[in-house]
Amino acid sequence: MAQPLARDVAEEIAKLHGVCIRPIALKRLDMTNGKSEVVDVPCGSPLESKCPPCAKRNRQIRMAQCREGWHLDEEPITTPDETTNGQRWLVEFRADMQAKRDEEEKAGGDPSDLDAVLTGLDIEINEAGMRGNVLGRTGSKRVRSTKRRQDAPDLPKRKMSSTTLGRTFEAPDGRTYRPSLFVTLTLPGYGRIMNGAPVDPDTYDYVRAARDALHFSKLVDRFVQNLRRVAGYDVQYFATVEPQKRLAPHLHMAIRGTLPRAEMKQIAAATYHQVWWPQADEALFEGDHLPIWNDGYVDPDTGEVLPTWDEALDQLGDEPMHVIRFGDQVDVKGVLAGSPDADQCIRYLSKYLTKSLGETLDGQAQREHAARFVDALRYEPCSPTCPNWLRYGVQPKNAKSGLVPGRCRSKAHKPEHLGYAGRRVLVSRKWSNKTLAEHKQDRRTWVLEALGQADEPTDPHRYIWQPVKPGDPDVAPIGVRLLRSIAERQRWRAHLRRLEELSATPQAA
Ligand SMILES: [Zn+2]
Ligand SMILES: [Zn+2]
Repeated sequence: MAQPLARDVAEEIAKLHGVCIRPIALKRLDMTNGKSEVVDVPCGSPLESKCPPCAKRNRQIRMAQCREGWHLDEEPITTPDETTNGQRWLVEFRADMQAKRDEEEKAGGDPSDLDAVLTGLDIEINEAGMRGNVLGRTGSKRVRSTKRRQDAPDLPKRKMSSTTLGRTFEAPDGRTYRPSLFVTLTLPGYGRIMNGAPVDPDTYDYVRAARDALHFSKLVDRFVQNLRRVAGYDVQYFATVEPQKRLAPHLHMAIRGTLPRAEMKQIAAATYHQVWWPQADEALFEGDHLPIWNDGYVDPDTGEVLPTWDEALDQLGDEPMHVIRFGDQVDVKGVLAGSPDADQCIRYLSKYLTKSLGETLDGQAQREHAARFVDALRYEPCSPTCPNWLRYGVQPKNAKSGLVPGRCRSKAHKPEHLGYAGRRVLVSRKWSNKTLAEHKQDRRTWVLEALGQADEPTDPHRYIWQPVKPGDPDVAPIGVRLLRSIAERQRWRAHLRRLEELSATPQAA
């Protein structure tokens, strides 16, 4: 009885001291002296529900990353620029899109939309005076009917320059200002909402809400693409996807540089994404009446083989299965570097980062709303490989035996994700010239400097790390490990405090 209690207490104290409550034990073998010891490393979870101290630390690192890139006044990458600006930008943008496309395919997704983007970019690259195909293509490419290609919306285009910095403005007093933007984009309405729940659940458009959430990340990609075209430079952003009270995902975006507010609204209004998938409105097979696996899925009544994913795509009609757009609520705010306003935006941007999308439920009506949303997501296909396609008479991509509609394991269907399975933090490649790992290292360096210890890089070959097997006698009970980490943290804190006091004490002349 005493043991779990002790553990709870240790956990509470650990939280107070910012110590990870779910440390991972690793065996570390020191190659310089052959000694091995068990070392605790923090779990690093970004979610408060899993480990509040790690989630808090994670959020702070993200805030630092956001702050660092927002108002940069020098290009983050300093390689000489010899090709013309526009060409260079196009090729780099294409490389980004190619990587995205390959990633999508590797994850079993449908890269055909990104293929269309690549095709368009190749044409532009050729028009910009560069010959041939930039990368050659990886993987097979679907040929799509031109009527299904999504055109770039009708937006003003500026001549592209390769800078990632926004314009500066000079005030009459000679001071230079570098304004940036803070933008919030929301999805459209699906029915009237009061206190985070629909007034009339029966008419609330859950299907549309579910599909919008599932494809939200594609819409964001399109937005960035359009933004860069209109702005005429390589716009950099730091964005977070967070849940609204009505449980729809929305986007906060810190953008380096500025554009007229009206233009931002115009871009948001013109941005859309079409989903060219088979229909998923009419269930052909449900309950016990499901397609049967016979080296491919067949109709249980006729024995006829169902169309494969590729066949189904070839048979698509003229209408996309879904079109997603932003709602009218577009919030654009100009922000100046270093102002209290900027700090407030950064806090706002990371407000919900430590919570999963479905974790902010409040009250009975909202819990019921969430349950209905999860219900709507249950049979909505989340990707080309989703088993739900069987319900609509199509074999999922890479079909194998044992697939059951309604039992997709992808996280998009889970209550804590509410349809959005993408990344919560989206940072463009040239945001701050630093990776997240480097931002972490920054913090470490700062602490070590304060402690007066040099942060010398350790020889990467010095240690060999190994996982610890369950029941390893070298691993102390969790309570003991937590208390040990707390003691160490206190020692550091005390040391830092002493240093602070010393530096604050006026020196005797
Ligand atoms: Zn942790
Ligand atoms: Zn699925």
